Amino acid sequence: HDIYGINKWGRDLIVVDDAGEIALKNPMNPSAPAVSLPDILEDLDDRGIQVPIVLRVSSYLEHEIRHMNECFQQAIERVGFQGKYRGVFPIKVNQQAQVVDRIVEFGRPYDYGLEAGSKPELVIALAHRLAKDALIVCNGIKDEEFIRLAILSRKLGFNTVIVLESPKEVETVIEVASELDVDPMLGVRVKLTNQISGKWEKSSGDRSAFGLNTDQLVSMVDKLRDAGLLHCLKLQHSHLGSQVPDVNDVRRAVNEACRFYTELTGEGVPLTHLDLGGGLGVDYTGEKRATESSINYTMREYCTNVVETVKYAMDEAGVDHPTLVTESGRAVVATSSMLIFNVLEATHYDAPTAPKAQENDHHLISDLLAITEYISGERLQECWNDANFYRNELRALFHRGSIDLRQMARAERIYLHLMARIKQHAGFDDIAISDDQLTQLADIYHCNFSLFQSLPDVWAIDQLHPIVPLQMLHTPPDRHAVLTDITCDSDGKVDRFILADGVKRSLPVHTLPENKPYYLGVFFVGAYQETLGDLHNLFGDTNVVTIDLRDDGGFDLLHEQEGDTISEVMSYVEFDPQDCVAEFRKMVDEAISTRRIKSKDRKVLMDAYRESINGYTYYE
Ligand code: PLP
Repeated sequence: HDIYGINKWGRDLIVVDDAGEIALKNPMNPSAPAVSLPDILEDLDDRGIQVPIVLRVSSYLEHEIRHMNECFQQAIERVGFQGKYRGVFPIKVNQQAQVVDRIVEFGRPYDYGLEAGSKPELVIALAHRLAKDALIVCNGIKDEEFIRLAILSRKLGFNTVIVLESPKEVETVIEVASELDVDPMLGVRVKLTNQISGKWEKSSGDRSAFGLNTDQLVSMVDKLRDAGLLHCLKLQHSHLGSQVPDVNDVRRAVNEACRFYTELTGEGVPLTHLDLGGGLGVDYTGEKRATESSINYTMREYCTNVVETVKYAMDEAGVDHPTLVTESGRAVVATSSMLIFNVLEATHYDAPTAPKAQENDHHLISDLLAITEYISGERLQECWNDANFYRNELRALFHRGSIDLRQMARAERIYLHLMARIKQHAGFDDIAISDDQLTQLADIYHCNFSLFQSLPDVWAIDQLHPIVPLQMLHTPPDRHAVLTDITCDSDGKVDRFILADGVKRSLPVHTLPENKPYYLGVFFVGAYQETLGDLHNLFGDTNVVTIDLRDDGGFDLLHEQEGDTISEVMSYVEFDPQDCVAEFRKMVDEAISTRRIKSKDRKVLMDAYRESINGYTYYE
């Protein structure tokens, strides 16, 4: 029974193998055997690479790029669209070199380009040999330096488009272009009035931060015409948003974008490219519904809707079909990375046995113990109510000094035993008590990762990711848990989980095996998470490993990026690790001088300090 809904969200890429382990299927060769994730971890551990690990699967990245480009190409052919598709990858969604370099490589056959939203991102884009027809689309707020570099890059043959986002930028472009005497490739960001539903609703509509409104758009056209640069305005950009849940919102927004495009063409603007920005979503829950963490469409459907809507709108207005551009980030990279960590220990909120009655028991303790005699499926709620009532009364007596510590401990133990019995009766499939109540009884599994470093969106915007045990999946889970991370922050917890029958507040898990690691995997973390993460409690970057899935069921390790050492994270917060070693050594020597420690203690102390400073920031 697939309680975690892996068949729904795993999309045949993430599956459970015969051994009950999470395994990765190679989408580039569906007949190849799936590779067990715990086997990969064991192999990496043998090589000295420890969890927590971000595992990047290169084959998934290649697959998503191919799939998206092919879906657009097939839609173009099916609909009879005359234009081409030229996608760009927004670097901000995952700026890591190993990711960007591979995207450029896998995208080359499709003239896939890059989107830069800042100067550093443009600098990265210009360090890549893109295909001849690929675009570099420059969005965001641009200063003169940004604009100068973008225009100059045209001399090297880059198709760098400066998307004008504000009236001020128009002035700067006119100045720099005339000074350099190079024709820039220009775009304009047109603000759509259609608001798109979902988590990122505010990035669309009138109050969105970027783009020109209709009035500013008309002024810009006039200004460029006056400056003799209107012939350079080739691209209209209308960003649809991010993680758009409902495909009908896509149609509506694309339709509005087309209205602007055809109107601008009518004004004599020689547009050739229509850029629809991001928005293509990821079905994190696998529900296939228009919710915050799911989408009611496939990639194929998205592409068809976009191409069809643009074709109809252009045909109706008698305008040539444009080259279509999208800036999908999330859908391209989310699947390719997963975060894997081990569970360090568990805190239980139940006790397997109850203490026996004692003669001197307070009568409320006897009442609490009596519940064990009438606990049953039909009376669960009543038992829950009684147990909480008596336990709270006993706590009040303890606070007033009427019962002692040992009596209170007996009461708490009886209570925890009652909770264990209630959980037993509630069962795992047919829960007779609420999800909320079950969460109060759930274990806390303390895990070896930092939420703030590795899953910042879970903390900041309640993003949901599938989280599952990587092993024992043929053994029914016998416990429920919420997860806490290794930071000393009570916010560092995960208590919303995607399960087959909806989002629940605790995760079904197994009793932790003895002498064996128990791994959990968090999936679809390739978009936005790596760079948004921060150094809370100085937990640094995790180890990052890029692998390729082989046809024989094995894997190749393509690249390893060691996680931050303690000395590295210290230097990020302005400490000089060498100075710290020297200061520590001074204190050791002073302790020897004042005879608080022996000379031979020096080596032990210095070795321990040095070993820590050079080590991984996570639990080793
Ligand atoms: N393009 C622009 C201008 C954006 O602001 C964003 C993100 O919001 C994207 C592209 C990428 O969007 P997504 O990751 O939803 O595809």
